[in-house]
Amino acid sequence: MRGHGELVFRALVKALRRDEDPKNLPGLDYRDTWTGEVVSNGLAPIPHPDRLPDFPYHRVAMPRYVRRTFLGTRTLSHHSSYGCPFLCNFCAVVMNMVNGRWYAQSAERTAWVVHHLVEHWGANAVEFAASKR
Ligand code: SF4
Repeated sequence: MRGHGELVFRALVKALRRDEDPKNLPGLDYRDTWTGEVVSNGLAPIPHPDRLPDFPYHRVAMPRYVRRTFLGTRTLSHHSSYGCPFLCNFCAVVMNMVNGRWYAQSAERTAWVVHHLVEHWGANAVEFAASKR
């Protein structure tokens, strides 16, 4: 996977499950079995975090991720955005990954996630990982 892999990885798994050839998926690099050359399909479009599905928290052992921090006794984290609106010329990641953009979930979506973490997993603090990839 090159760049954002959220949608590309899902498309790859779907294609493999259906026994389809995934070679044309944008965002995928692979080694050609005949030539041995690495083939790059280029970067996939960057998905806006508001259009990504909710994390399937019920599929992981959430109690393992609840921890005590300076914020609270039951802290969970949420990755609410990515990118950066600045274009510092020494920064190695921003231009390559998001081209000087900052993509954030809406306030409503973020509030819904926090509500979910409190109601279902007993969080009393949420650490936001608004990362710059
Ligand atoms: S991530 Fe930091 S260093 Fe990079 S462009 Fe943004 S503010 Fe500048």
